[in-house]
Formats: sequence, structure tokens, C-alpha cells
Amino acid sequence: MKKIALFAATLCAVALTVFAGKPAHAAGLERLYILNCGEGTAGDISRWSPGVNVGKSMPFVDNCYLLKHSSGWMMWDTGLTDAIAAMPDGQKPADPKATHWYRPKTLASQLDALGVKASDIKFVAVSHTHPDHVGNVEMFPQSMLLVQKAEYEWPNPLGVGRFKPEHPVTKLEGDKDVFGDGSVTIISTPGHTPGHQSLLVRLPKTGALLLSGDAVHFKSNWDNRGVPVGNTGQDQTKASMQKMADIMAKEKATLWINHDKAQRDSLKMSPEFYE
Ligand SMILES: [Zn+2]
Repeated sequence: MKKIALFAATLCAVALTVFAGKPAHAAGLERLYILNCGEGTAGDISRWSPGVNVGKSMPFVDNCYLLKHSSGWMMWDTGLTDAIAAMPDGQKPADPKATHWYRPKTLASQLDALGVKASDIKFVAVSHTHPDHVGNVEMFPQSMLLVQKAEYEWPNPLGVGRFKPEHPVTKLEGDKDVFGDGSVTIISTPGHTPGHQSLLVRLPKTGALLLSGDAVHFKSNWDNRGVPVGNTGQDQTKASMQKMADIMAKEKATLWINHDKAQRDSLKMSPEFYE
């Protein structure tokens, strides 16, 4: 009997050791909030899916994600500029096929409601430099920007830099484990823009999520590997989608598509959160 007990205790100890030795699922990552960073209507969705649904409009959303890690807060994308909230008719695009954006809530008010100050944000990472993703970067002038070197140095038609030169920045060349514990990893996914990136998040209860950025805009494009006409690299986009699919299979990760309204309608918005 004693032997059996001893054997069981040994087994337990071994099991505990093995468990403790496993890569901690989400070492320091505690929570993820989805913030409303815009809502709009795309005039012609074939801009994003050439030859498919020509002339059809579709609702779009724009998300920002706030991550609470034991060693600091991180923003993933900053959405459309808060200034649009004050425009009664929203922001009309020059090209009617593009997206007419509204800002039902400001980013500032949503952070405020959570008691998070801009100066609390340690890292701001953006998927890319289109205006619906970098609109509020300068709300966080002290936060370390995490952006691919290829995106930072991508020539801007306005003849100025894509970011303020005084903004602290870490220029990345590829994937990056942000907190050094595997819980939040920037994944280089070029193609939509030269230095586009996505974000792999490992939450303790929810599990692994892959935040798309604009590597894909809506689910049917993901399913059919549709590539928007405006992307800077067509083959690069397809290679990035394959990289994402491989990561998702390995991590058993769920893909959260930033602009997909149908998906966002099924998710909890801040102040609710995922853990
Ligand atoms: Zn974009």
C-alpha cells in the first residue's frame, strides 16, 4: 500500500514538473479588450476582392486592441483619428468606392472608462500605416512604437515621415516576442503594405488568437485568398496568408479579422474583456 502511495506521489511530482516545464501559456498576459475604433460603409467591396461582389457596399468596422500584461499595457492599432467623432457626417472618402468612416466613440473615452491613461501605455504597435490604423498614434507620444523598419521607411507621398521623428521607436525586421515570455508576438506579414504585421496573442483562458491587421479584410477573402487591388505586394500577401495559416494550425489559434463586422458582432467589446 505504502509503495503504491509512494508511486502515486512520484507520478504526481513528475506530472507537476512536466507541467511547470511547459511553456507557460500566457506568462504575463492577463487581459485583452476590443475597443471600437470606427464603423463605416465600404462603397464597393470589390476593391478588396477583385471581380467579386462588384459594386456592392458592405459595412466595415475598425478595431483597436488593448492588452494588459503584468509588465505593462500595450495598444495594438490605434484606429481612425478621434477627430472624426466630432464630424456629424463622418469622414467621406474622395473615392466613393472606398470607406465612409464614422467614429461612434473616441479611443480616449474608452481608455478613460477603463481608468487607463495614455501615459500608462508602454508599447504601441500598429499593423501598418494606413490612416484607419495610425489615427491616434500621437495620443501616446511616450509609448515605444513597435513597427517594421520596412513600414517606417516606406516613402510617404506627402514627403514627410510616416511617424513623427521624435516618437520613440523600435524598428523591427521580422517577428518579435514583445514581452520576452511568448505571450504576445508580432508576426511580420508584408503584402498589404511593405512592412505590414499581425499579432499572435496567447491568453491564459481564451487561448491563442491571431489579430489580422489588414493581412485580410473579411472572412470570404481569407477563405478564397482574395487580395485587394491596392496591396503593395500580391504574391507577398499570399505568402503572408500561408504563414498565418501555418501559425494558426501550430498554435490552434483563432483568427480575428480587424475589419470584419460580422465577426466583431459576435465578440465582447470593452469594457468586457478576454482573459
Ligand atoms: Zn490598410
